[in-house]
Amino acid sequence: TDPAQIRNFCIIAHIDHGKSTLADRMLQITGVVSDRDMRAQYLDRMDIERERGITIKSQAVRMPWEVDGTGYALNMIDTPGHVDFSYEVSRSLAACEGAILLVDAAQGIEAQTLANLYLAMENDLEIIPVLNKIDLPAADPDKYARELADLIGGSPDDVLKVSGKTGVGVEELLDRVVGRVPAPVGRADAPARAMIFDSVYDSYRGVVTYVRMVDGKLNPRERIQMMSTGSTHELLEIGVSSPEPKPSKGLAVGEVGYLITGVKDVRLSKVGDTVTTHRQAATEPLPGYTDPKPMVFSGLYPIDGSDYPILREALDKLKLSDAALNYEPETSVALGFGFRCGFLGLLHLEIITERLSREFGLDLIATAPSVTYEVATDDGRSVTVTNPSEFPSGKIRAVSEPVVRVGILTPKDYVGTVMELCQSRRGNLMGMEYLGEDRVELRYSMPLGEIVFDFFDHLKSRTQGYASLDYEPMGEQEADLVKVDILLQGEQVDAFSAIVHRDKAYSYGVLMTERLKNLIPRQQFEVPIQAAIGSRIIARESIRAIRKDVLAKCYGGDISRKRKLLEKQKEGKKRMKMVGRVEVPQEAFIAALSGE
Ligand code: GDP
Ligand code: MG
Repeated sequence: TDPAQIRNFCIIAHIDHGKSTLADRMLQITGVVSDRDMRAQYLDRMDIERERGITIKSQAVRMPWEVDGTGYALNMIDTPGHVDFSYEVSRSLAACEGAILLVDAAQGIEAQTLANLYLAMENDLEIIPVLNKIDLPAADPDKYARELADLIGGSPDDVLKVSGKTGVGVEELLDRVVGRVPAPVGRADAPARAMIFDSVYDSYRGVVTYVRMVDGKLNPRERIQMMSTGSTHELLEIGVSSPEPKPSKGLAVGEVGYLITGVKDVRLSKVGDTVTTHRQAATEPLPGYTDPKPMVFSGLYPIDGSDYPILREALDKLKLSDAALNYEPETSVALGFGFRCGFLGLLHLEIITERLSREFGLDLIATAPSVTYEVATDDGRSVTVTNPSEFPSGKIRAVSEPVVRVGILTPKDYVGTVMELCQSRRGNLMGMEYLGEDRVELRYSMPLGEIVFDFFDHLKSRTQGYASLDYEPMGEQEADLVKVDILLQGEQVDAFSAIVHRDKAYSYGVLMTERLKNLIPRQQFEVPIQAAIGSRIIARESIRAIRKDVLAKCYGGDISRKRKLLEKQKEGKKRMKMVGRVEVPQEAFIAALSGE
């Protein structure tokens, strides 16, 4: 296809503002999916995506569209909308010349609308503002058209009004994409350069790599080369998705398509990398490749210890399709054998644990999420700590923690309570702006460690669900952080160690010692539970001694109940963990960690 007749665009939106539904309608209106084959959220392939209504992996689809007798190829690139995947979002944006900024006409602009808009502007994309869901009775398109026009400049009349559900306005929108989004430009006779914006593992076909051609051409059966590593692969298939994969005679300047080489591991085909040909390799890669960096860490342990090999296998499998997932074996006194896993963010963690339970039937406990700390010790070493139990025990010179730039959008009535929450999480107010009459954008810098611990839940409950949140990394800062250990009869229980700000050490200690006191059954001797910073005890509780005689509770009588109780006790025995002389059912640890 002549680049002049190609338009590459994406849809950016806050979650639930209707991106997938609009994409469905476009597929239908352009005829690439027949009405008969249409099913909701056609492009969201993973079950978990469909159920939660979120897009995890982006996909690209080619759609034909005619304007004034000229045929165009529209490549729609579906970006993941969530901040955890912002690296993937920004790679997808780099593959486009334009973006549809989609906003729910009953909700208005939200935090991810802004975060994605900023990313699109950084990539110099042509922005097409669109209000969606105008069929809703609660929609207020005029009000939000003004809001959008204020935000990106231009007149409220330029804001298109559509309904992805009914299809109203979608044809005009496609016309506008052709009219406004610039055609791709590139050098047709230069050595081939294609940017990988997505890489998906398919159990039948191996890794499917989605690329945007920038310069030159890629031909079928050619030997390709990855520029970040120099590794070469035979092209088994090259084609375009429309939306089912269709082999083609190659990909030329401006085109978007897929490559299949038979590799089985997405790490060999990394998002952001540049593909060239082995025969005539380009010398300069396209800008922008960085390795995805895990930000949030958690220990994952099978509740049934014999599931450990299954967990290992499952993680190996998921890693094939998720280059950002990191893990290594770890053992814990309280929880047994498991893995320390690194994630891009909290949603990523949640998705992985959910997939482990859903696709592999695993029952898991996750330790409290932690971030990466850099600890400078007095003897001049610098230690990277992703697990609190690895915190150096000697004298500490300084500890630094990751900081993020947080954007929160909230109705103005909740500004007070949101600010209070942010302050309690060591936030620094950086800016505050009104968006329209009743919504406020608050910008904070805040330690990531304060966000990974239930911040979002608190934000939602304080604002009745109305506030939205987004954050992005902004570096590191030194802080007065200490490690709090929890001791059972003087023995440290590793899974409960936490790195917290000194001001919060006491309340963490009290919380955990109280929880454990209520959960650990009485023993034949008294068991002290202490919280300590180094050798200094900051909180204590104790479990009084008791002679365990459960059967006494049964008052004779019901024999079958007695038997059941005995069996249950026996079952419980299997999961008993010994901490020093103290016998603790694993359930107690699990309950204490999950705050039940
Ligand atoms: P995404 O998260 O941006 O991909 O949003 P979805 O496309 O999954 O839509 C979120 C919810 O909004 C779903 O329940 C859709 O059925 C609904 N929805 C999407 N577009 C429209 C629309 O134009 N009108 C109405 N009434 N509902 C819509
Ligand atoms: Mg979606």
